[in-house]
Amino acid sequence: MLDNNSQPLDIQKLPPNETLFALLKWSAIPGFSRHHWGTDFDIYDHAALPENYKLQLIPQEYESGGIFTKLNTWFDQQLTNDFFLPYKNTTGGVSPEPWHISYQPIAQTYFNQLSLELFEQEIQASNLLLKQEILQNSSEIFNSYIININQGNS
Ligand SMILES: [Zn+2]
Repeated sequence: MLDNNSQPLDIQKLPPNETLFALLKWSAIPGFSRHHWGTDFDIYDHAALPENYKLQLIPQEYESGGIFTKLNTWFDQQLTNDFFLPYKNTTGGVSPEPWHISYQPIAQTYFNQLSLELFEQEIQASNLLLKQEILQNSSEIFNSYIININQGNS
Protein backbone atom coordinates (compact mmCIF):
# COMPACT_ATOMS: atom_id res chain seq x y z
CA MET A 1 0.00 0.00 0.00
CA LEU A 2 1.16 3.54 -0.80
CA ASP A 3 0.70 6.84 0.99
CA ASN A 4 -0.49 10.14 -0.57
CA ASN A 5 2.93 10.60 -2.18
CA SER A 6 2.94 7.12 -3.74
CA GLN A 7 5.50 5.98 -1.15
CA PRO A 8 5.24 2.59 0.61
CA LEU A 9 3.14 2.63 3.78
CA ASP A 10 3.45 -0.02 6.53
CA ILE A 11 -0.14 -0.64 7.64
CA GLN A 12 0.99 -3.06 10.35
CA LYS A 13 2.05 -0.04 12.37
CA LEU A 14 -1.25 1.84 12.03
CA PRO A 15 -4.24 1.68 14.42
CA PRO A 16 -7.38 0.08 12.83
CA ASN A 17 -9.05 3.41 12.07
CA GLU A 18 -6.00 4.73 10.22
CA THR A 19 -5.63 1.43 8.39
CA LEU A 20 -9.24 1.73 7.22
CA PHE A 21 -8.80 5.26 5.86
CA ALA A 22 -5.44 4.38 4.26
CA LEU A 23 -7.16 1.47 2.48
CA LEU A 24 -10.06 3.64 1.34
CA LYS A 25 -7.76 5.92 -0.63
CA TRP A 26 -6.80 3.01 -2.87
CA SER A 27 -9.51 0.42 -2.67
CA ALA A 28 -13.28 0.47 -2.46
CA ILE A 29 -15.16 -1.30 0.29
CA PRO A 30 -16.18 -4.73 -1.06
CA GLY A 31 -19.55 -4.37 -2.80
CA PHE A 32 -19.11 -0.62 -3.30
CA SER A 33 -16.67 -0.44 -6.19
CA ARG A 34 -17.93 1.12 -9.40
CA HIS A 35 -16.08 -1.68 -11.20
CA HIS A 36 -18.74 -4.12 -9.98
CA TRP A 37 -21.34 -2.25 -12.02
CA GLY A 38 -19.71 -3.30 -15.31
CA THR A 39 -19.65 0.36 -16.35
CA ASP A 40 -16.17 1.29 -15.12
CA PHE A 41 -12.77 0.21 -16.40
CA ASP A 42 -9.11 0.92 -15.68
CA ILE A 43 -7.34 1.71 -18.95
CA TYR A 44 -3.64 1.88 -19.77
CA ASP A 45 -1.71 1.93 -23.03
CA HIS A 46 -0.02 -1.45 -23.31
CA ALA A 47 1.95 -0.36 -26.39
CA ALA A 48 3.53 2.49 -24.39
CA LEU A 49 4.96 0.16 -21.74
CA PRO A 50 8.75 0.03 -21.82
CA GLU A 51 10.20 -3.49 -21.89
CA ASN A 52 10.26 -5.11 -18.43
CA TYR A 53 8.30 -2.21 -16.95
CA LYS A 54 5.97 -3.18 -14.11
CA LEU A 55 2.66 -1.35 -14.45
CA GLN A 56 1.92 0.57 -11.24
CA LEU A 57 -1.22 2.59 -12.04
CA ILE A 58 -0.04 5.70 -10.24
CA PRO A 59 -0.88 9.28 -11.31
CA GLN A 60 2.76 9.98 -12.24
CA GLU A 61 2.43 7.53 -15.14
CA TYR A 62 -0.37 9.68 -16.63
CA GLU A 63 1.06 13.11 -15.87
CA SER A 64 3.23 15.14 -18.23
CA GLY A 65 6.43 13.19 -18.84
CA GLY A 66 4.87 9.90 -17.71
CA ILE A 67 4.65 6.81 -19.91
CA PHE A 68 0.90 7.30 -20.48
CA THR A 69 0.94 11.05 -21.21
CA LYS A 70 -0.33 10.39 -24.74
CA LEU A 71 -3.25 8.32 -23.46
CA ASN A 72 -4.06 11.02 -20.92
CA THR A 73 -4.07 13.66 -23.67
CA TRP A 74 -6.29 11.41 -25.77
CA PHE A 75 -8.71 11.13 -22.82
CA ASP A 76 -8.79 14.94 -22.53
CA GLN A 77 -9.48 15.37 -26.24
CA GLN A 78 -11.73 12.43 -27.02
CA LEU A 79 -13.89 11.61 -24.04
CA THR A 80 -17.47 12.70 -24.56
CA ASN A 81 -19.91 13.28 -21.77
CA ASP A 82 -20.95 9.62 -21.97
CA PHE A 83 -17.47 8.55 -20.86
CA PHE A 84 -15.86 10.37 -17.98
CA LEU A 85 -13.14 10.01 -15.34
CA PRO A 86 -14.83 9.96 -11.91
CA TYR A 87 -11.50 9.96 -10.04
CA LYS A 88 -9.46 12.19 -12.37
CA ASN A 89 -8.79 14.88 -9.77
CA THR A 90 -8.53 14.68 -6.03
CA THR A 91 -11.82 15.09 -4.21
CA GLY A 92 -10.49 14.60 -0.70
CA GLY A 93 -11.55 10.95 -0.80
CA VAL A 94 -10.30 8.33 -3.23
CA SER A 95 -6.82 9.09 -4.59
CA PRO A 96 -6.75 10.39 -8.17
CA GLU A 97 -7.13 7.56 -10.71
CA PRO A 98 -6.64 9.14 -14.14
CA TRP A 99 -6.92 5.63 -15.65
CA HIS A 100 -10.45 4.95 -14.36
CA ILE A 101 -13.11 5.54 -17.02
CA SER A 102 -16.86 5.30 -16.52
CA TYR A 103 -19.80 4.95 -18.90
CA GLN A 104 -22.04 7.59 -17.44
CA PRO A 105 -25.49 6.72 -18.95
CA ILE A 106 -25.62 3.40 -17.10
CA ALA A 107 -23.31 4.19 -14.17
CA GLN A 108 -25.55 7.12 -13.20
CA THR A 109 -28.49 4.74 -12.79
CA TYR A 110 -26.54 2.71 -10.24
CA PHE A 111 -25.04 5.80 -8.62
CA ASN A 112 -28.55 7.19 -8.04
CA GLN A 113 -29.50 4.06 -6.10
CA LEU A 114 -26.68 4.46 -3.56
CA SER A 115 -27.69 5.63 -0.11
CA LEU A 116 -26.16 5.76 3.34
CA GLU A 117 -28.93 3.44 4.54
CA LEU A 118 -28.10 0.84 1.87
CA PHE A 119 -24.40 1.13 2.66
CA GLU A 120 -24.96 0.62 6.40
CA GLN A 121 -27.30 -2.34 5.79
CA GLU A 122 -24.77 -4.07 3.55
CA ILE A 123 -21.90 -3.53 5.97
CA GLN A 124 -24.03 -4.68 8.91
CA ALA A 125 -24.87 -7.90 7.02
CA SER A 126 -21.22 -8.54 6.11
CA ASN A 127 -18.38 -9.99 8.12
CA LEU A 128 -15.73 -7.67 6.73
CA LEU A 129 -12.52 -7.04 8.56
CA LEU A 130 -12.75 -3.56 10.18
CA LYS A 131 -16.57 -3.81 10.11
CA GLN A 132 -16.99 -1.90 13.40
CA GLU A 133 -14.63 0.85 12.23
CA ILE A 134 -16.57 1.11 8.96
CA LEU A 135 -19.92 1.38 10.78
CA GLN A 136 -18.54 3.95 13.24
CA ASN A 137 -17.45 6.11 10.28
CA SER A 138 -20.19 5.15 7.81
CA SER A 139 -21.40 8.66 7.03
CA GLU A 140 -17.89 10.02 6.37
CA ILE A 141 -16.98 6.95 4.29
CA PHE A 142 -20.19 7.13 2.24
CA ASN A 143 -19.91 10.86 1.59
CA SER A 144 -16.13 11.09 1.07
CA TYR A 145 -15.27 7.79 -0.62
CA ILE A 146 -18.39 6.39 -2.28
CA ILE A 147 -20.41 9.27 -3.72
CA ASN A 148 -17.57 11.83 -3.86
CA ILE A 149 -16.54 11.75 -7.54
CA ASN A 150 -15.69 14.17 -10.36
CA GLN A 151 -18.88 14.70 -12.36
CA GLY A 152 -18.48 14.98 -16.13
CA ASN A 153 -15.30 15.95 -17.98
CA SER A 154 -14.06 19.23 -16.61
ZN1 LIG B 1 -10.61 1.73 -11.29
